[in-house]
Amino acid sequence: MFLKGKRALVTGSTSGIGLAVARALAAEGAEVVLNGLGDRDEIAALEAELGASYNGANLLDPAAIEVMMAEVGAIDILVNNAGMQHVAPVEDFPIEKWDAIIALNLSATFHTTRAAVPAMKAAGWGRIINTASAHSKTASPFKSAYNASKHAVDGFTKTIALELAQTGVTANCISPGYVWTPLIEGQIPDTMAARGLSREEVINDVLLAKQPTKKFVQPEEIGALAVFLCREEAGNVTGANWSIDGGWTAE
Ligand code: NAD
Repeated sequence: MFLKGKRALVTGSTSGIGLAVARALAAEGAEVVLNGLGDRDEIAALEAELGASYNGANLLDPAAIEVMMAEVGAIDILVNNAGMQHVAPVEDFPIEKWDAIIALNLSATFHTTRAAVPAMKAAGWGRIINTASAHSKTASPFKSAYNASKHAVDGFTKTIALELAQTGVTANCISPGYVWTPLIEGQIPDTMAARGLSREEVINDVLLAKQPTKKFVQPEEIGALAVFLCREEAGNVTGANWSIDGGWTAE
């Protein structure tokens, strides 16, 4: 329970990786603020399970983020995790999808961070953890907006790590390979269409083909890495981009 007394905001924590990170931080005693979309009753059940509160700001909207950050107040741990994907050839990529992916995956990370940093600096301690992706280090076709946004999250994280290097606040990326969550399931039909493949071919020949371990990453493994980054022993770990991708980006 080494995070007792610490407050954590985890964006996109109503599902998938963010929920696993929220659970892992809460298990160490952190007071967690959940954020994300979803069914209100299911979210209430998560609040009860984790002893957490919830802020439903839509992170596509910078004004809503500003309101959320004011409502949430000072936090010690910021996990920028909300994200979305769209799979299409660049010439057919819907402009509104490009704009939304950049707004959520990249710009929301800037807006929460700029609001959270002053209190972290004042406290002399803070942890900023950004869920990037293997696609922050390498690319796959038909994911132009996503890959651009995730490469940019890596650059943003390194920049703020340097700015905050002497303040007790660290900033790091966690870069998963394929994790079996609704985000991955949702892109299978479009990948089938874009590549002319069956569902099984997409899973085995496109997704798991990337991961030498031939296993999907588990959300709980990402939660454990986030917990490590919050430890005192990780105080000198900053500006890093941690792969958890079954060896994908080693190739
Ligand atoms: P997910 O779809 O299960 O969860 C996404 C979360 O973001 C949900 O809580 C959702 O409600 C929230 N969200 C979506 N739009 C939002 C909005 N406008 N405002 C506020 N919240 C919003 O997806 P996931 O797989 O858990 O993805 C989480 C993060 O991990 C994303 O940044 C994603 O890019 C990244 N990632 C996922 C994988 C993977 O294989 N699943 C791999 C690498 C990186």
